[in-house]
Amino acid sequence: MAEVERVIIIGSGPAGWTAAIYAARASLHPLLFEGAISEKNAQQGTLPLGQLALTTEVENFPGFPPGDLSAFLETALPEDRRDYLPPHGKHGVSGPELMELMRAQAVHFGTRAITEDVTSVDFSGRPFRLQASDDKEYQAHAVIVATGARANYLDLPSEQRFKNRGVSACAVCDGALPRFRNQPVAVIGGGDSAVEEATYLTHHAAKVYLVHRRDALRASKIMAERAMNNPKIQIVWNRVVEEVLGDDENGVTGIRLKSTAGEDDLTLEVRGMFLAIGHTPNTDFLRGQLELTDKGYVKRVKPFRTYTSVEGVFAAGDVSDDYYRQAVTAAAGGCMAALDAERWLAAHGV
Ligand code: NAP
Repeated sequence: MAEVERVIIIGSGPAGWTAAIYAARASLHPLLFEGAISEKNAQQGTLPLGQLALTTEVENFPGFPPGDLSAFLETALPEDRRDYLPPHGKHGVSGPELMELMRAQAVHFGTRAITEDVTSVDFSGRPFRLQASDDKEYQAHAVIVATGARANYLDLPSEQRFKNRGVSACAVCDGALPRFRNQPVAVIGGGDSAVEEATYLTHHAAKVYLVHRRDALRASKIMAERAMNNPKIQIVWNRVVEEVLGDDENGVTGIRLKSTAGEDDLTLEVRGMFLAIGHTPNTDFLRGQLELTDKGYVKRVKPFRTYTSVEGVFAAGDVSDDYYRQAVTAAAGGCMAALDAERWLAAHGV
């Protein structure tokens, strides 16, 4: 029979690692599932270290003003976790660097990280039972769910056909590929992510169309202005993608756009289509076990607490937050979940 863990943390974004740092320092010796390195996780953007690992500069996480962190990174990260990171510039911190730093801090205090997915859970009795992708069962007195959210696709058959051949939901991961270099590309969406991705793509592509279904961006004012003032970005208002065009040899060659304002169809010649149309919480493995919201996020049942519908199970970060969705709020949630779990365990004599 497997040993019963005091706390298992599921997820390896800012919420998961922060929960781990607090739980480890509270001597709970946490076990953290950081996700498996699998094709499925690569396809849907749920590899270890979460969404931040798919971004470039992080300008709004407190404590990292512009500057050169190179020497610090060399001393703070073990060599085998440093080699894959791109050379450090003078930007402060990048998403992958920030996540590696959080991971190193959690491991330093005794967190045991397992590079597997939790595939199903049984929260019907205590201790809780968790099935993992290594075909093992794990048990825990308390669980912190911090599995985050993943990028949405449009669900068009033509989009599916050209995934990885011009269709991507991560400009930062794929934007520098040769197929997009000095070519026109399109970003779909009107939020901060769309603007951020479009801006990033201007470094590689000849031109970036930002295709939005309305006549006003949802993005924050400062981000929207950045897009509007960038000569390489052309905003295409009131349009949705009807079909991704292309062929087997070239991948994507264009997109056919339907008007949401009664205009004729429009075809844009582009070699890439990048989706930035929001996210879906990673809660499939929780269905039937935890109460979820209409949008599939884990429901928190107490104001200002991380309690879920099952006593002893706590939730933090984007998996339970479709409103703030920031690295710093996720990290704060992770801290709260670890404190809630610690106090709950103490109250139950564990
Ligand atoms: P978001 O704010 O939900 O924006 C999604 C965009 O996609 C919206 O403009 C939406 O259109 C559009 N959309 C949704 N479904 C669509 C569909 N089926 N077809 C066409 N368009 C569709 O998501 P986000 O941009 O990923 O941002 C999420 C959160 O992260 C926000 O809180 C944002 O502030 C934050 N964020 C911050 C930064 C930063 O500060 N640097 C960067 C990235 C993200 P409508 O506008 O018409 O609904």
